[in-house]
Amino acid sequence: MQSTPLSPRCVHKFGGASLADGERIRRVGELLFARAPDRPIAVVSAVEGVTTQLDQLAREAAAGAVDMARIRVRHRSLLAQLELDSEHLNRHFAELSTVLAAIRAAGELTQAQRDHVLSFGERASARIVAAHLSQRGLRAVPIDAYDLGLVTDSNHGRARVLPHSAERVRSALERIDAICVITGFVAADSHGRLTTLGRNGSDVSAALIGEAISAREVVFWKEVDGVMSADPKLVPNARRIAQLGYADARELTHLGANVLHPEAVEVLERCQLAGRVRCTRTPGDEGTLVRAGLEPREFLGVATRSNLALVRLRGAQDGDARQIAAHFASRAIDAQLVASDAGEFTFTAAASEALVRAAAQYARPLEVVREVATLAIADRRGLDAQLEQTLAAIGVEPLARWRSGASASLVFALPQARLSAAAGALHDVLQRALTPLGEAR
Ligand code: ASP
Ligand code: MG
Repeated sequence: MQSTPLSPRCVHKFGGASLADGERIRRVGELLFARAPDRPIAVVSAVEGVTTQLDQLAREAAAGAVDMARIRVRHRSLLAQLELDSEHLNRHFAELSTVLAAIRAAGELTQAQRDHVLSFGERASARIVAAHLSQRGLRAVPIDAYDLGLVTDSNHGRARVLPHSAERVRSALERIDAICVITGFVAADSHGRLTTLGRNGSDVSAALIGEAISAREVVFWKEVDGVMSADPKLVPNARRIAQLGYADARELTHLGANVLHPEAVEVLERCQLAGRVRCTRTPGDEGTLVRAGLEPREFLGVATRSNLALVRLRGAQDGDARQIAAHFASRAIDAQLVASDAGEFTFTAAASEALVRAAAQYARPLEVVREVATLAIADRRGLDAQLEQTLAAIGVEPLARWRSGASASLVFALPQARLSAAAGALHDVLQRALTPLGEAR
């Protein structure tokens, strides 16, 4: 039936940091404008910081207080900066206010209500971006992913998209003759109840939409140059990785390089789809291409995580690890068992007051070490001894070490205050060990 065969399209995903102010949204508009003839499909996150604010708003409502001023001002200010109608999101604010009132009246927050509240972040940003494109003379429509047919299970807060969604999304998108600006992160279950895919889930939405339309490429636009060999804020001479195979991308994201969501990588790999991480500030640069058919690299980089705590039990028995994990899980704390040897179990978890409280409530004494960071070495050359020596030379004593990921990468837990020094020194050693031969890659 189709008259002219159309070339495969690209999906362009924009994270919250790329939508943080009017100037950045204009940059996003520019990127889409330049690609308009290729019928780009945009997937957007909420404006930076908004999801966290909405989460807080939902919890405050359950405790009896509703104050939408901050969230309203944030979005109104963006509309003003872009010279868009300040009333543009009023219908959404009215709906949000109704949901918050219901939560306050009930005095408690269900996971379904929380998802409903969180959905406003992406629903608002999609409307702002689409309105901006329209103002530039493009035909653009905001689309809530659930109206497109992105259907999930009913696991609120961490929903999984059901496989039959792909066909619906594909045919829905084929029928729309405009630039679609689709909400990331948000979907609905088969009863039409709003769900969310878990924090940072917009990457996953973009990959799934890419899968549905057999996209030529899924572009993850960021405010960094691509996938880097280390966090450039910690290691200024970190390098961009030009190309990554799926296994390497999986390894890096698993170890905590938070440039891409690990599940987005899984989706790309499942359908052998190309992904690319690019920077909105330097749109002429190649960024990092994630694709099939590449050999694993020897040195990927160092991946860091901050603001953690270590929880330890000494004199432990085999069954203790499961009991401790269950103890934290029942208090909604995600504690990962990272090491067990010589009767000692070590867990990592995000540092919080709730964690300290939960640890104190355990039947046996748990040691909690706070202000911890982890540094994972994604390198296949077995330079462990050199790394240990380097840490010793700069006077950093690891609090713990273990192995993680498919290639059993070495991970160090360190005092947070020493993370930057340690990351810089280890990255240097690994980078130097590459030359002159390794530079070829
Ligand atoms: N807005 C959601 C979050 O902040 C999803 C995303 O940004 O990908 O977690
Ligand atoms: Mg994000």
